Amino acid sequence: MLTQVADGVWVRQSAWVLTNATVVRGEAGLILVDPGIDGSDLNELADDLDRLGIPVVAGFSTHPHWDHLLWHPRFGGVPRYATPAGAHAASEARERAQRMAAESASGNGTFTLDGVTVALDLFGLVTPLPADGGPVPGEIIEHEAHAIGHAAVLLADRGVLIAGDMLSDLLIPLLDSRRPDQVGAYETALDRLAEAARHVDVLVPGHGAVARGPEVAARLAADRAYIDALRRGVEPVDARVGPDAPWLPAHQSNLEQARRR
Ligand SMILES: [Zn+2]
Repeated sequence: MLTQVADGVWVRQSAWVLTNATVVRGEAGLILVDPGIDGSDLNELADDLDRLGIPVVAGFSTHPHWDHLLWHPRFGGVPRYATPAGAHAASEARERAQRMAAESASGNGTFTLDGVTVALDLFGLVTPLPADGGPVPGEIIEHEAHAIGHAAVLLADRGVLIAGDMLSDLLIPLLDSRRPDQVGAYETALDRLAEAARHVDVLVPGHGAVARGPEVAARLAADRAYIDALRRGVEPVDARVGPDAPWLPAHQSNLEQARRR
């Protein structure tokens, strides 16, 4: 089910890690940001788009992690974009996926990651967004936190920030363990997102609940407090890291990575 969150902006949430697909009406048609997750989610999203009756003209991937590189034949053979660095990393992710599909026992062109079976054929086929943004409306806010080439999309005219895997009420900040100084990268990214958030009253994270009004600032404050604690080398006090949180291993790796630097 699509939920309209602002003029010409809709969100569909999947059960898997509460992943948000965002649909944005641009000048020429719809842009799908991070459509996910499994086949039935993508099919239902295609049904929702049919009901809107507006053609899909492009896709946009906020960052090159597998859950943000998905697509479905029913969305059409339109261009799918990412930042140049994100597109480069996505082609590497696709090569890994090709190897996984080749090694898979099913032999039917799928691979399985984090419990989700993904069709290889349209996975990760993104190209660099043109400098003028092409069909993607708003402002691309690229930064180095979480994943290479990570971008948020600021739709200032509609008061919406599509944040990718930042500013979630569900996920803690997840440092990219392969890259240096992620604490510094997060600090810079949060500064940039805070500046962008001055223009919005709706925040769509990649996973978790859409934030509205004062919740937007609260999300920024929560990520900042977590990163500040890493910077100071202390255990963050964070509601997202309860004893049952599935990302406790990632949290431990965040702490280790922050202490190593
Ligand atoms: Zn994600």
